[in-house]
Amino acid sequence: MNSPFCNVALAVPLRTTFTYAIPETLRDFVQPGTRVLVPFRKKALVGVVVDCVPHAPDGTKIREITKILDFLPALPPRLIELGQWIAGYYLAPVGEVFRAMLPPVTELRTERQIALTDSGRVAADKEIVATRSLNPQQHAFLSRLRDKGGAAPFAFAAKLGLDDAALQRMRRAGLIEIRESMLGRKPKTHRVIAWKGGGEKNGSENSEGNGDEKGQEKNQEKDNAEAQSAQRARREGKDGRVRAFDEKIGGVRAALEARGPLPLARLLRVAKVSRSVIERMLRDGLLESWEERVDPAEDPFDAGYVPPAHELNVEQESAMKLIRSRFELGEFGVLLLHGVTGSGKTEVYMRAVQETLARGKTAIILVPEIALTLWIGRQCRAWFGARFEGVAVLHSALSDLERAREWWRVRNGEARVVVGTRSAIFAPLENLGLIIVDEEQESSYKQEETPRYHGRDVAIVRAKMENATALLGSATPSLETYHHARSGKYELLTLAGRVESRPLASVEIVDLRDDFARTHQTSPISAALHAGIQECLAQKTQALVLINRRGYSWSVLCRSCGASLQCANCSISMTYHKHRNRLECHYCGSIQPVPKQCPKCQSQYVYFFGEGSEHLEERLRKEFPGARIARLDRDTARTKRQYQETLGAFAGGALDILVGTQMLAKGHDFQRVTLVGVVSADSSLSLPDFRAAERTFQLLTQVAGRAGRGELPGRVLIQTFYPEHYAIQDAVRQDYPAFYERETQFRRVMGYPPFTSLANVIVRDTNLEKAIRWSRQLSEYFSPHDGKGLRILGPATAPLAKLKKEHRFQFLLKSPKRSLLAKVLGGAMTYLERKEIPETAVMVDMDPLSLM
Ligand code: ADP
Ligand code: ZN
Ligand code: ZN
Repeated sequence: MNSPFCNVALAVPLRTTFTYAIPETLRDFVQPGTRVLVPFRKKALVGVVVDCVPHAPDGTKIREITKILDFLPALPPRLIELGQWIAGYYLAPVGEVFRAMLPPVTELRTERQIALTDSGRVAADKEIVATRSLNPQQHAFLSRLRDKGGAAPFAFAAKLGLDDAALQRMRRAGLIEIRESMLGRKPKTHRVIAWKGGGEKNGSENSEGNGDEKGQEKNQEKDNAEAQSAQRARREGKDGRVRAFDEKIGGVRAALEARGPLPLARLLRVAKVSRSVIERMLRDGLLESWEERVDPAEDPFDAGYVPPAHELNVEQESAMKLIRSRFELGEFGVLLLHGVTGSGKTEVYMRAVQETLARGKTAIILVPEIALTLWIGRQCRAWFGARFEGVAVLHSALSDLERAREWWRVRNGEARVVVGTRSAIFAPLENLGLIIVDEEQESSYKQEETPRYHGRDVAIVRAKMENATALLGSATPSLETYHHARSGKYELLTLAGRVESRPLASVEIVDLRDDFARTHQTSPISAALHAGIQECLAQKTQALVLINRRGYSWSVLCRSCGASLQCANCSISMTYHKHRNRLECHYCGSIQPVPKQCPKCQSQYVYFFGEGSEHLEERLRKEFPGARIARLDRDTARTKRQYQETLGAFAGGALDILVGTQMLAKGHDFQRVTLVGVVSADSSLSLPDFRAAERTFQLLTQVAGRAGRGELPGRVLIQTFYPEHYAIQDAVRQDYPAFYERETQFRRVMGYPPFTSLANVIVRDTNLEKAIRWSRQLSEYFSPHDGKGLRILGPATAPLAKLKKEHRFQFLLKSPKRSLLAKVLGGAMTYLERKEIPETAVMVDMDPLSLM
C-alpha cells in the first residue's frame, strides 16, 4: 500500500505488464486487482493492477494513472493469481486473460453503496469512541448509517464531510463495506409465501400411501388443527364461518406443501383464495413470507417448476458419502463422478452444493451449454434460491448489463452459487468450497480464442489454489480425465445404473449400405428410422433426430466442371441455407448469393448435396405431414428465448419430433422420448483428428442417453456406413470401459494425450510469403530441440489451409513432459520478439482439442 508505482495489465497482445505512477491522492486506493484507467500510446485503456512497487524500471518515461474505477478491487487476490497462471500456462498476454475474467466494462452505470458491517453496527451502538480508525465524526457517520437501515449511497459520506480516505480506513478496519452494484431499475422483488404452521411434509389431505407412522403423525396434526380451529371457534363464536375459513387454510396448505414456497400472486391463483386469507394466516403464524428477488436470469418456465427431491438411491448415496468425506478433509481434491446417462448425477450435484453451503462455503457449477445454465439454474433457484443463498447465472447470451450486474452480485457476496458456462469459472466468489464441471468432456469448455484456456482444467487449478473440491461429472469422461481416475490421481465415483433401475435404451445400427441396396433411396431417413418415427407418432411419444450439420446442404458442386463453391476467405465449402436463401461460410461468417450457374464454367448444373438440419426438417415434414416438428440448432436458437421456447415446448409435449444438431445431445431430461435417431454417425468419424473416435463415441452415447429416461423404454437407431468401427460398436453396447481400453491403446502407440502433452502452433498471415517466411524462421528455432525429449512436426500446411483470409502453417509439438514443452515454447516467444515476428502471427494452442 502507498507505493508510488504499480504494474498494470492491459488487454493488448503483448506479454508484459506496464508500469505507471500512482498520483499521491490515489495511493490509498490502488491495490492488486483494482481496475484503472491509464494512457497507453494515444489511447485511454482500462487495465488491472497486478502489483504495487516501490520503483519504476530505469530509462523509461513513466506516465500516471488517470483514474481508478474500483473502490473495492474488482479482482480478488486469488483470481489475480489464477490469471497469472493462465497467462503462463497458455502463453497468453496477461491483460487479455484479465479481460476475459472481468465483467464487461459498464462502470459508468455502476453505483457505489456503503453498508454497515456487523462490527460497524457494534461500533455505531457504542456510546464512547476511542479507536484509531474511528473519530467522533466517523462515529456519527456510522450512527447515521445505522439509522438509515445500514446502507446508503456513496455520496452520503461526502455530505457528512467524510472523504474517500476516511472511508477507506473504516473499510480496512472492517466497519463498513463498499459495494458496487449496477445502476438501472431497482431489482424486482416479489413476496414469497411458505407454510410454517407445524406439520410434516406429508400432511396434505390427498397424499396417498402413508405408512403407519406417517398416518399417525397425520392424525396428530389433524388433532392439532382441530384443536386450533375449535379454539378459534370459541373465541369468535361463529362456527360456520370458521369452518369455511379452515377449508381455505387447508387449500393453501395443500398448495404450499405440494409445490413448496410460492410467490404470492401464484399462490392466490393456485389455492383460489383472496389476499385477506393469506394476510390472516400470516398473522396467525401459519405462514411465513419474505421478499425474494425476481432473478434477472429467471425464465418463464421457472413458474411451474417443482424441484424433484428424490431419496438418493444406494449408488448416489455412496457417491455422496465419498464427496462428504472429501469435504471433511477440507483440502484440495478432484473427484470424477462417472454416471451413465440418466443415473441421477444432477441430484448428486445439488446435494453436494447444499452441503458446501451448509459449511459456509460457496460453489460454482459449470455446464457446457447455455441451455443447461437455464435448466440447472432453475434447479438451483428451486433448491437454494428461496431461503438460503442467492444464485447467479453467468453466460454469454446475457446482455453486457445483465452480465455485469450478475457479476457484481457475486463480487458483493449476494450470490453464493454460480451457474454458468466456461467463463463462469472466473466468478469472483470468495471462500470457494466446490467446483462442479458437468459433462467435463465437452469441447465447449475450451475457448478457441486468446486466452485459449480449458474451463475444466482451469477449474482444477482454481480448486487447488482455493483448497476446494473439484467434482467432474460425465457419462463419457474424456480420456485424460478417466486416465487420471484410473491412476488414482482423481477419485472415481461410479453410478453404474439408471435411477429406479430403468434400463438403458437399446441401441441398434442401421447399415446405410444395406438400406440403399434395398430401397435405392437417398433419403437421409432410412426405412427403419421412418418406421420408428411412425411408431412414436402412433403411440403419442416423442422422437429426437440428430444430424451433425446445420444449414440445408453443406456442399455446392458444379456437375459440369466439378468445381466446388468455396468461401472466398477460407478453404472450406460454403453451406447453403435455403430459408435465408444464401450461402454461408460457417468459419468466417461470409455470405454469398445462391448461384444460378457455376461461377467457373457458367453451367446450369449446380448441385447441392450433403444434408444439413434444415434439409432434414423439411424431409421430416414431408414424410410425416401430421406431426408437430421443430428444429433446434444455432440458426433457430439464436437467443436465450428461442432456446427456451423450443426446449420448453418439447418438454411440455407440444411437439412430437425435435430435429437438431449436437445441442440436442446434451443433458436434457425429456421424459417422453422413446426414440432417438442419429442420421449419420460417420461425419464426425472421418475428420482428420486424433479425437475423432472419442468424439463420435461420446456423441452417440450422449444422444442415446436422451431416450427412455422416463417410465417408457427407449430405442436408438444409429445410421452409419461403418458399422464395424469400434467407436460405433462400443457406443451400441454403451460400454465406456471397453472403449477406453481400445482408444488408449491407439493413443499410446501414436503418442497422443493422455500419454503426451500437445501444443499446436499456427503461423498465419494474409500475405502468403510472410506466412511462409515466418514459418521457416520458427522452424529454425525449433529444429535443434527436436528429438530431445520432444517431437516437433512441421511446418506443414494446416488442415484448414486458409481461414478468414489468412494462410496457415502448422507445427505440432509433442512431449511426455509438459514442462519441457512449456520451456521450448517460452523460448519461442522470446525468439519471435527478437526476429520481430508479430505476436499475433503465431497462435499457440496448449492442450488443443482440435488440430484443425
Ligand atoms: P444424469 O444427469 O445422470 O443423466 P439426471 O440427473 O438428469 O441424470 O436424472 C435423471 C432423472 O432421474 C431425473 O428426472 C431425476 O429427477 C431423476 N432422479 C434422480 N435421482 C433419483 C432418485 N434417487 N430416484 C428417482 N429418480 C431420481
Ligand atoms: Zn462448373
Ligand atoms: Zn469463410
